[in-house]
Amino acid sequence: MKLALIAHDHKKDAMVELATEFAPFLKTCTLMATGTTGGRLRSEAGLEHVECLLSGPLGGDLQIGARLAMGEVDGVIFLRDPMTPQPHEPDINALVRACDVHNIPCATNAAGARVMLEAWAFPG
Ligand code: PGA
Repeated sequence: MKLALIAHDHKKDAMVELATEFAPFLKTCTLMATGTTGGRLRSEAGLEHVECLLSGPLGGDLQIGARLAMGEVDGVIFLRDPMTPQPHEPDINALVRACDVHNIPCATNAAGARVMLEAWAFPG
């Protein structure tokens, strides 16, 4: 399973909490993340194998979108902050659109992410 993990600044604590809870499963996955999110997952959730791409505002979402379009991403957990304007809103929309174009599961809040992770971590 190849997963991409992204969290906006106000959602990074929630991402670390979720990733810590599901760390046994996530350790079996190939993981990529935007830069700052990935750094926190490495240092605070014990996921040292996370590949850190560029930070979101510098093009990290686009990198993930490109990989997804190439068939290299099986799922996206993207904890968005709906209350804060983002300078890279077009990139965010492009990534979510790429998920829809390629029919890749994408959770944009912690509740949805939990449902996806439980389904993958405990199939059947
Ligand atoms: P970051 O990028 O993980 O580098 O903060 C995510 C974002 O803010 O879009």
